[in-house]
Amino acid sequence: MSSITIALSKGRIFEETLPLLAAAGIEPAENPERSRKLIIGTNRPDVRLVIVRATDTPTYVQHGAADLGIAGRDVLLEHGGTGLYQPLDLRIARCRMCVATPAGFDYAAAVRPGGRIRVATKYIKSARQHFAGKGVHLDLIKLYGSMELAPLVGLADAIVDLVSSGGTLRANNLVEVEEILHISSRLIVNQASMKMKRELIQPVLDAFSGAVA
Ligand code: ATP
Ligand code: MG
Repeated sequence: MSSITIALSKGRIFEETLPLLAAAGIEPAENPERSRKLIIGTNRPDVRLVIVRATDTPTYVQHGAADLGIAGRDVLLEHGGTGLYQPLDLRIARCRMCVATPAGFDYAAAVRPGGRIRVATKYIKSARQHFAGKGVHLDLIKLYGSMELAPLVGLADAIVDLVSSGGTLRANNLVEVEEILHISSRLIVNQASMKMKRELIQPVLDAFSGAVA
């Protein structure tokens, strides 16, 4: 019997996906916040969930270790999207990617053509693309988290990070100086699975898109 595997990350994506799964008649057997299990069954014998790090979701789906997954636009842009269909914007986990600097920093002067700026971020590709058209010399510093710290200790002039309420920026005396992208999470599908397991995947896709609309 054919079955499908859905890759999800813990936290906001798992929580915000629960109503979509419910619309598709899928109920996880356990909550990954409480269980330490990485493979979680559901009420349906032909559907299981795997719990992965948010940045790893496209990799599992690309290689067919999961048939479906849910990943942020930020993560998908860094991954590049190879081997993935992205049929549906789920409009969950919404925030924006922006440039932020310390309150006193003269950002306009730094990004004038011929200027130079040091930017710390985990979104190297998106940051490079954002600054590419400005004619500014960009020094990119790759970090894996807590980007807000970098300008406060002299590691960078600015950060590229995700913002929703702005509370973390404010708490660290940073201000948003430029918006780069609106971010939400998308359903991703392995391209081979879409062909080979269409009879299982299409109803999930239809239920998700009905629940989003
Ligand atoms: P970790 O927080 O464990 O380091 P992560 O930041 O990659 O990992 P999450 O915080 O669960 O994982 O974020 C998952 C996705 O949710 C991100 O890729 C992004 O698309 C979105 N997201 C991140 N921060 C916010 C936020 N503050 N508000 C809404 N959505 C967000
Ligand atoms: Mg996070």
